[in-house]
Amino acid sequence: MKRRVLPMVCCLAAAVLTTTFLTAAFSAEWVSGIPWKEPPVIDPGPPGGPPSDAIVLFDGKDLSQWEGGEKWTIEDDFAISKGGGIQTKQPFGDCQLHVEWASPEKVEGHGQGRGNSGVYLMGKYEVQILDSYENETYFDGQAGALYKQSPPLVNACRKPGEWQTFDIVFKAPQFDADGKVTKPAVMTVLHNGVLIQDHFELKGETAWHKPPEYHAHPPKLPIHLQFHGDAVRFRNIWIRELTPRPVPEPVSDKPVPEKPGPEKPKGDKQK
Ligand code: MG
Repeated sequence: MKRRVLPMVCCLAAAVLTTTFLTAAFSAEWVSGIPWKEPPVIDPGPPGGPPSDAIVLFDGKDLSQWEGGEKWTIEDDFAISKGGGIQTKQPFGDCQLHVEWASPEKVEGHGQGRGNSGVYLMGKYEVQILDSYENETYFDGQAGALYKQSPPLVNACRKPGEWQTFDIVFKAPQFDADGKVTKPAVMTVLHNGVLIQDHFELKGETAWHKPPEYHAHPPKLPIHLQFHGDAVRFRNIWIRELTPRPVPEPVSDKPVPEKPGPEKPKGDKQK
């Protein structure tokens, strides 16, 4: 009997060892083989920012970063538009821009005459500011519209007087030596955290009185905040300049298997 048991135990042990080895060999995770640089570590700041790598354009105290800022009134931690538009002293191209705004609490006027302002990227491409809470107007002119080119995907407007946020990702247009556009401007916008413009390719400048058209311009230009006759309030404005990240060449054609790390909980297939 013992003669039979010993070979069986040996076979069983060999099978277990083989299975363990194969499992370890094939459970090594796949990695791309691209030698990425470590992403910079930043402090995201409080909810709504500014992150530590942002340029603060308005912190509620002064408008010294803006041409024409002396025309606007500053109260507590916000500015009230008055007497004309303002524009940043610094020019910007590709960027992530955060703007908080509020239309007047007292409702006066209707349509385009109610809480109208606007954020003009490069002074040419407007994200419309309007009191669009139960206020009819043409759809490509309501809050969050890329003016007369793209209505917002949804109307995420808060009530008059309440603070609202725009988070804008903007890619500037590119032009060739003859001034012809080679890459249109692209805009993504979140209104109060809700996606309302999804990577929209602009057809040109957002003029109110004529069809959109591109005119060649420098890669960076000031940002403009519109005054349209309404006392729209602004606070907490910051911007992050965006630069393309180079993609390193893979170190080899064949991806390098990563050394097996600590075992993950079952069901957790993604890092
Ligand atoms: Mg406007």
